[in-house]
Amino acid sequence: MMLNWKQLSEEILSLFLSPNCPLCERSAETVLCKSCDRKLNQHQLSTPQFQGKNKISVFAWGKYDGLLKRSILALKYENKAQIARPLGERLGNIWLEKSRFPSSLNPIVIPIPLHPEKQKQRGFNQAELIARSFCSVTGLKLKPQGLKRVKNTKALFDLKPEQREQEIAEAFTLGKGLQPQQNVILLDDIYTTGTTVQAARITLEKAGMRVISIAAIAKS
Ligand SMILES: [Zn+2]
Repeated sequence: MMLNWKQLSEEILSLFLSPNCPLCERSAETVLCKSCDRKLNQHQLSTPQFQGKNKISVFAWGKYDGLLKRSILALKYENKAQIARPLGERLGNIWLEKSRFPSSLNPIVIPIPLHPEKQKQRGFNQAELIARSFCSVTGLKLKPQGLKRVKNTKALFDLKPEQREQEIAEAFTLGKGLQPQQNVILLDDIYTTGTTVQAARITLEKAGMRVISIAAIAKS
């Protein structure tokens, strides 16, 4: 295809102009502008590792609040997929710095999948995008198809605890590329009650895998 002069000059111009910050629309050198980058860092937890439901180790970068909450909402509901990269990098860096798992465990990373219908609507799975960025920082192996979501669940936060567990039970099945006895990090965007990751964990552990930790951008 031949480009005319106008198209060509636009092409050249776009090499120099990076897109604006998805959170405030100001110009940005990387994904986020310097101001949002700084503000986001204020939400970082001083102790990222804690014990979640059923004594699982949970590793979360920040508190689900303020600009971190807005970033995750923009990623999921305003089609700002590019936000996944700086979030996943933050989680990856804190994992390298503070997690205390021996490297001999050699865990694989499985993002919590969306139901195919929901993923089609959204165009991507935010947990998978975050996991990609997390793995590029940590060097851990990503298994994006490790789990499949076979049940299109309702929003869990509206439900009572026992209804939540019922709703999410058997929501997942094993996907592709897994070996028994592998160690797994399950990655999700937000850790709230732990019900979703617990259901995913049961599916994996029934098949002989061991979930050593949950990793999430934010703790709610
Ligand atoms: Zn900004």
